[in-house]
Amino acid sequence: MRRMRNVKIVATLGPASSTYEMIRALHEAGADVFRLNMSHGTHEEIAERHAIIRQVEEDLGTTIGILADLQGPKLRVGAFANGEEELEEGQSFRLDLDSAKGDAKRVTLPHPEIFQALEPGASLLVNDGKIRLKVEACGKDFADCTVVVGGTISNRKGVNVPDVVLPLAALSEKDRTDLEFVADLGVEWLALSFVQRAADVEEARRLAKGRAAILSKIEKPAAVKAFDEILYASDGIMVARGDLGVELPVQNVPPIQKRLIRKCRAAAKPVIVATQMLESMIESPMPTRAEVSDVATAIYEGSDAIMLSAESAAGDYPIEAVTTMNNVACEVESDPTYTEIIEASRLADKRSVADGIVAAAREIAESAKVKAICCYTQSGTTALLVARERPRVPILALSSSKSTARRLALTWGTKCVTIGPLDRFKSAVVDAAKAARELEYATTEDLIVVTAGVPFNTTGTTNILRVAPCDERLIYATDPE
Ligand code: PGA
Ligand code: MN
Repeated sequence: MRRMRNVKIVATLGPASSTYEMIRALHEAGADVFRLNMSHGTHEEIAERHAIIRQVEEDLGTTIGILADLQGPKLRVGAFANGEEELEEGQSFRLDLDSAKGDAKRVTLPHPEIFQALEPGASLLVNDGKIRLKVEACGKDFADCTVVVGGTISNRKGVNVPDVVLPLAALSEKDRTDLEFVADLGVEWLALSFVQRAADVEEARRLAKGRAAILSKIEKPAAVKAFDEILYASDGIMVARGDLGVELPVQNVPPIQKRLIRKCRAAAKPVIVATQMLESMIESPMPTRAEVSDVATAIYEGSDAIMLSAESAAGDYPIEAVTTMNNVACEVESDPTYTEIIEASRLADKRSVADGIVAAAREIAESAKVKAICCYTQSGTTALLVARERPRVPILALSSSKSTARRLALTWGTKCVTIGPLDRFKSAVVDAAKAARELEYATTEDLIVVTAGVPFNTTGTTNILRVAPCDERLIYATDPE
């Protein structure tokens, strides 16, 4: 299947998108990566959706990435005797470790570590930030708070603690069990929620043992502060605007989004912009103008991928939501202003041989006759470097690794096909030409740029650049063995 756009679409699966027909239709409408949300659904349901994705991939002969999103250390209050209570502005309310059911004066917060870390003056946000509490006094098993913004508090509502770096393990018991489960099933990406520090990412990487790449969700002020180290430790990033907009004032989210996208591009690591992109499409077949503009903005900023959450997982119009993203992407990317912005924000410094080769490949590909950049890549790194250049022609990555191909489903402008191991450069050029023609990127009249590395089939060796005809008869006639 040939996609006409560079930005990738991630669609979250859920009750509204769990059948073979729906998942296939979502992929055909434009979803490149599917997200399995470990906060919802049983292992059985997750395994079922996973199997369907792989079946669709096989039936359509495409490459689909799978991202498993771990819940992370999400804090929740306990239950209430009456199910819910109304908190009034100015009243006091206590959080404690008492396991008795809550009432209008108190409720359990079953996380002893939090009480150790709290300090008077800290804010506690309940139910997506709708309720705001201020800590007045606290001890090792309680926090007495004043209600700053009131509202209805009910059973097991989520709690955010933005002001404090929490002494919490990066991965809860549930996360560890989930991680083992999905890594064994086979997913390309593991997303970590509520990352606070680079050590959290390193911990997940140890547990994943190379079975999946690690993507950090930036949704806490601490993660924004420690972003450079977190980015260095991660393979990819998600701007998780939902919780980020709870933990920080909402107006802080757009500048953070812009800055994170730039830094990810500089580091040649994929970045996803997520949450509420087409929120109104949960219930309506038409998005708001503001949502369309938000999707367009993320694309103009050069994001690798844009994501649907409840729109595709639990909404009434999953296919329409993917189609909307696809249409917005095609329109933005055909706007000359988009090309101008993307090219003006290209980075100048080239440090390695591979950096130089991919920059040259991109420059050569600005010639009208060159229709694709074909790069041989084992680990995917060369493809990521080509993508950082944001060339005007499609990037065709060729890898002998199926997992590399699937991982690259998240990367801007990159289509990855799997091929056997390389033995000769001549056949590498021929295979690249054939693949470019099969995908209709080029015809026998066109040229392609091919990058590869000797020794073959080794990571980190990109050192050859060949501008070749996209016609193997010509390649056979001219190229040395
Ligand atoms: P979530 O993460 O959907 O798992 O909460 C995304 C976000 O917070 O934006
Ligand atoms: Mn979140």
